[in-house]
Amino acid sequence: MEGVIDIHTHYAAESCWQPWVKEWWIKMNKEDIWIVENYTPENMLKYMDEAGVEYAVVLAERAPNVTGDTPTEAVVEFCKASKRLIPFANINPHLSSYPYKDMMRYIKMGVKGLKLHPVHMCFEITDKRLYPVYYICQEEGLPVMIHAGTSIFPGAKDKYGNPHYVNEIAEDFPELVLIMCHGGRGFWYQDAQFIVRHRKNVYIDISGLPVKKLLDYFPQMERLKEKFLFGTDWPGVPIKRAIEEFTQLPLSDEAKRLILRENALKILKLV
Ligand SMILES: [Zn+2]
Repeated sequence: MEGVIDIHTHYAAESCWQPWVKEWWIKMNKEDIWIVENYTPENMLKYMDEAGVEYAVVLAERAPNVTGDTPTEAVVEFCKASKRLIPFANINPHLSSYPYKDMMRYIKMGVKGLKLHPVHMCFEITDKRLYPVYYICQEEGLPVMIHAGTSIFPGAKDKYGNPHYVNEIAEDFPELVLIMCHGGRGFWYQDAQFIVRHRKNVYIDISGLPVKKLLDYFPQMERLKEKFLFGTDWPGVPIKRAIEEFTQLPLSDEAKRLILRENALKILKLV
């Protein structure tokens, strides 16, 4: 089947998360909580089939002080069940003595990209310890997703989510594919849109945003249709509803095809 690509789902085994995160998911997406409680690749794939999703990127997140601790190893293990589940590594520079060594190990384990969460882990992505990691990802052709925007979770530090940091990495690594998760959510939508317009290597994932408001946040989405990627932030957002709402936006069929599937196919090297 040729379906949607959700570039932003979280590894959801509840043992990896702070108890309040599950309460948050119940509030935001009660209907899918059965998967969180029975988080197996089989259940996830069944859910993806029902939602019309062909591939889902599954993210690790080591933020024990904020949301919880999902190591890359658990994500890789989970994704072994199917090529449709695509594992992304996570590095928290506060928990890693040599981030580049960890990245090389994760690549050997089969990850297809890296997600960084400076807002939940309180670091600047321009930290020099991460530069070898960016270089490795650039050379290997692996995309780097970066949380760019605010987070309302206790302990999060929004200042680290400023897309201007991503702009700096984009300048230093012009061949590295960078994805700004949430497109500058909160203060910086216009800054993020400006950056993807001018940097050929930077993209925005629309995860965690109210889909009906996307064109208010990004009025140039049609023109920049090759620079946006569909993602949800599942299990915080029901994937089925997000797809339905997205297909109803006043965008061209071409823009919808690119954003829901084809841009991600290219970035994830699935074509
Ligand atoms: Zn997320």
